[in-house]
Amino acid sequence: MKFHLEASLRLSADAKAAEAALSDFFGKAGPILQKGAPDGQGARVSSWKLAGSKIDLVIDSDRYVRAHDALLRLRRPLSELLGKQYRIGVRGMDITRFDIEVDSDRAIEHRIPYVQEIKFEGGKLKIALDVGPQGTLGQSEIENRIPDRIISLLEDKLQSYGGKTEHWELLWESAAREPKFNRDPTEEMQKAGWIKHGSSRGQWIYGPQATHVFRTFEKIVLEEIIGPLGYREMIFPKLDTWDVWKKSGHAQGVYPEIYFVCPPKTRDPAFWEEVMDYYKITHEVPLELVKEKIDLPIGGMCYAQCPTFWGFLQGTTLPSDELPIAVFDRSGTSHRYESGGIHGIERVDEFHRIEIVWLGTREQVIAEAEKLKACYKHIFEDILELTWRTAWVTPWFMAQEGKTGLSEMTGAGTVDYEAVLPYNGNWIEFQNLSVNGEKYPKGFTVKAQSGEALWSGCSGVGLERWASAFLSQKGLDPSNWPEEFRRRCGKMPRGIRIL
Ligand code: ATP
Ligand code: ZN
Ligand code: MG
Repeated sequence: MKFHLEASLRLSADAKAAEAALSDFFGKAGPILQKGAPDGQGARVSSWKLAGSKIDLVIDSDRYVRAHDALLRLRRPLSELLGKQYRIGVRGMDITRFDIEVDSDRAIEHRIPYVQEIKFEGGKLKIALDVGPQGTLGQSEIENRIPDRIISLLEDKLQSYGGKTEHWELLWESAAREPKFNRDPTEEMQKAGWIKHGSSRGQWIYGPQATHVFRTFEKIVLEEIIGPLGYREMIFPKLDTWDVWKKSGHAQGVYPEIYFVCPPKTRDPAFWEEVMDYYKITHEVPLELVKEKIDLPIGGMCYAQCPTFWGFLQGTTLPSDELPIAVFDRSGTSHRYESGGIHGIERVDEFHRIEIVWLGTREQVIAEAEKLKACYKHIFEDILELTWRTAWVTPWFMAQEGKTGLSEMTGAGTVDYEAVLPYNGNWIEFQNLSVNGEKYPKGFTVKAQSGEALWSGCSGVGLERWASAFLSQKGLDPSNWPEEFRRRCGKMPRGIRIL
């Protein structure tokens, strides 16, 4: 990695009188520019020139002390030198050229902010940053570490391209139970009149019988987890603003999978009259016209369920005796644009989930995760009697930022729960459990009174996925269901008869 930076320091007056002192300063600047770098590495001032009331500098560097850091390092000692002895102030700096070279095995084709040009030559990306006069890279961007963010972004892109795959490591596997059924439960439920397609893609209308099965799953979670472990119910908002997703990390990568939410530009009926009239006459909604009358998206519909919870604690300090906090939400739907991936009720665009969230010290959070895992195991082994397994996977909070691999925080990570679908032999993830480390408390600035780091965890119980796992292995006929499930389910409700 190489950096070439050309910049000028703007001075409050002509510095002719200081020329000799400046020459001496730059002659001895080596230690400032190499501090922290391995021997012989770092940055150097390749040339400098005093031009009246500005100093033109050319700085070349490697990765150890990046040229823009070198420039920032020089500013203070130079200000001190010129201020004390010559009463001259350093007013600011202008960047006139900033080129970066990064090793790469491929070109990068799309636009990146502040980048004027990227050429791919001789195994290197040659990047020219846009240093033009306005809205481009200048002093405040350098101070705000924009060049470093550009480099991290490129490094991420180059790495993920090298085929780094999602992590998946088997943790535990149940005995293979003989399936009671080998057909696609979605098709069977449709035939039996339990569910019907909704009007939107990947959306279902659940009739009384399917709903009763979902509610039985919820009842099991309430009786086996929520009650005994003392979780308190809350209602989390289901419209996530950009602000929430900036803090949760989702703003980094969630775009291809969200349903965007746009408010009207105004609620003045006169503003919408044209649209209403058009509909009344043609019986078509004039979408192009609607598009002109709605505002930019303020966020999207619930995607991961727990991020909006954190607004409740944002900016607060929690008393030690309040920890660990354990809550859950089951107040609404989650929405994901699954594109071509939708399949039956297994992968839908609108789904129902119980989200379990807990927070406390690292030890408390890890201990709570273990308790939950034990409860889940009891449910899947003794009540649902599934053929299931768990795997240690790329944490969801990394996956949803577009990252692969594992978390660097020890003890943090995601366990996926998977069940086999006898009708096609595939395994589906029917829920997960994550220890998210300090991510959320940090993102939403929540602190512990003790000063100890706060950790959190969350677990999403997907009802469509539980239904897919259970019904694909046991079928729709209650007489084939495990005794413990049947007992909790009670009498199935009557369906709606049609002619
Ligand atoms: P997948 O890999 O199957 O897409 P995911 O990793 O995107 O799942 P998470 O983001 O971890 O899923 O969401 C947590 C839980 O939410 C899942 O375990 C599952 O129960 C449920 N879920 C996620 N996406 C869907 C969907 N499209 N349809 C139904 N349930 C879903
Ligand atoms: Zn969550
Ligand atoms: Mg997914």
